[in-house]
Amino acid sequence: MIQNEKPAIKYIFITGGVTSSLGKGIAASSLGLLLKCRGLRVMLQKLDPYINVDPGTMNPYQHGEVYVLNDGSETDLDLGHYERFIGVNLSSVNNVTSGQVYERVITRERRGDYLGATVQVIPHITNEIKTRIRMASEVKDGVDVVITEIGGTVGDIESLPFLEAIRQMGIDEGRGNVLFIHLTYVPYLKAAEELKTKPTQHSVKALREIGIQPDILLCRSQKELTKDVKNKIALFCNVPPEAVIEDLDCDTIYEVPLLFHDEMLDNLVIHYLNLWCKDLDLSEWEKIVHRIKNPSKEATIGICGKYIHIKDAYKSIIESFVHAGIENDCRVNIEWISSEDVKKYGPEKYLKDIDGLLIPGGFGERGIEGKIEAVQYVRENMIPFFGICLGMQCATIEYARNVCSIPDANSLEFDQTTANPVIHLMEDQKKITQKGGTMRLGAYPCILKPDTIAAKAYGVDEISERHRHRYEFNNEFREILKNEGMSLSGVSPDGSLVEIIEVPGHPWYLGVQFHPELQSRPDKAHPLFREFVKAGLEYRERQSGSKSKKSEKVKSVE
Ligand code: GLN
Repeated sequence: MIQNEKPAIKYIFITGGVTSSLGKGIAASSLGLLLKCRGLRVMLQKLDPYINVDPGTMNPYQHGEVYVLNDGSETDLDLGHYERFIGVNLSSVNNVTSGQVYERVITRERRGDYLGATVQVIPHITNEIKTRIRMASEVKDGVDVVITEIGGTVGDIESLPFLEAIRQMGIDEGRGNVLFIHLTYVPYLKAAEELKTKPTQHSVKALREIGIQPDILLCRSQKELTKDVKNKIALFCNVPPEAVIEDLDCDTIYEVPLLFHDEMLDNLVIHYLNLWCKDLDLSEWEKIVHRIKNPSKEATIGICGKYIHIKDAYKSIIESFVHAGIENDCRVNIEWISSEDVKKYGPEKYLKDIDGLLIPGGFGERGIEGKIEAVQYVRENMIPFFGICLGMQCATIEYARNVCSIPDANSLEFDQTTANPVIHLMEDQKKITQKGGTMRLGAYPCILKPDTIAAKAYGVDEISERHRHRYEFNNEFREILKNEGMSLSGVSPDGSLVEIIEVPGHPWYLGVQFHPELQSRPDKAHPLFREFVKAGLEYRERQSGSKSKKSEKVKSVE
């Protein structure tokens, strides 16, 4: 190496084969964590082949949760895993879609940047993809390794330009600086009592046809891969046996880095990429996994929403409960409650045995009345309540209707003719006509009122949280709700936006206009989730106390 020359940035590409949903995001995050724990500066990035500019315009059935970053980008939920595993705050360069790539190339074409040329997938689209991959390394503190996950499954038509671009990166950057990892599936056929390697062989064949020879195979499987199976995969897929890494199903996603390390994945990667780094120290992570797997208490939290059949829609909330469980030495069982069922059959049936209710974010009118009834039930029965975004808006409507005696109180999102819009469109949303990327997005500061649940939980008086909404608490109703006991415990610095509501006198009742679940981490649970679970545990204890007192009474009467 010439003296003072900057060491080359290393690129790791993770592709997926056989089927979707194998956990490429978790695999990428787990490898990122292992390299980070070896002292390397790691950046993670996802390339998504769809034509939408971002997932913000897709519904949760299509896409799952839209993960919002501090800078306001609406991104894929895998970015949530990246942030949680490697403890960074990412930005728009970390999620690239075909839509963004084509939009940029077409804009440049119209401007005349390519005058005279036929604009084509190769080289114009692939060049733009490569530029975006390299941009992921341009961060202030520098990066040693960029791990880029390619969305979709090898063989899909739409991901071809991405695969071609990463193939070219292998040449551009020099072989020793680029690593191709392929995540594949090795199914177990019960009838044959055998693990089957054929789908993996075919998937690798498809990859090789486009010019990419994977260096490492991560083999997702329900059963341990025997030596024979590993050898067979190695032989047919043209990799050494030690590069066939087992990726077994496990109890918690946070265990995956430990499994990968047992399979020596990090050793292999640093060897292939010739990386200089320190020995691995995973002790902190091991503690996290141990605490997740061995809690001494449990609590049951109900989540009442309309997308309860697709858990991916609430990914960060589910993870936030895992983190809050770690800090409370508790397993949080989640009870999924359909808001439409609550409306149909009444709240009692679904809410009487839970230790806390969370109403998450959402859009549109369907299921709203059920959510409002659910908030009323937990408010009146002193069950801990946590409303997030739409959940906070439902709580405001419920309070206005049932405590402030405004029976037609509603949000303009659900009833454009209501005379009492306690939730209304934000001022700067009124002129907006384009739907994509135009909500109030990203991190905003919020000032907390002293001695409230929020201020005590955070332990500071100013916070920053991420938002994604168009509607807000209507200030015309501030006094009315306050006079009836509601506390506006968090507001924007200029005082104009209500960000947090509470009901003093209730054991734990809090609604937030932002999305706290986007900032919870396994090594640092979000303070509101931590305190909500704590309140749930206390509620459970009180309940079991009063139940055992009741049964004692019955016995003494007998
Ligand atoms: N639909 C509501 C709004 O736009 C809430 C959004 C959300 O829950 N993310 O304000």
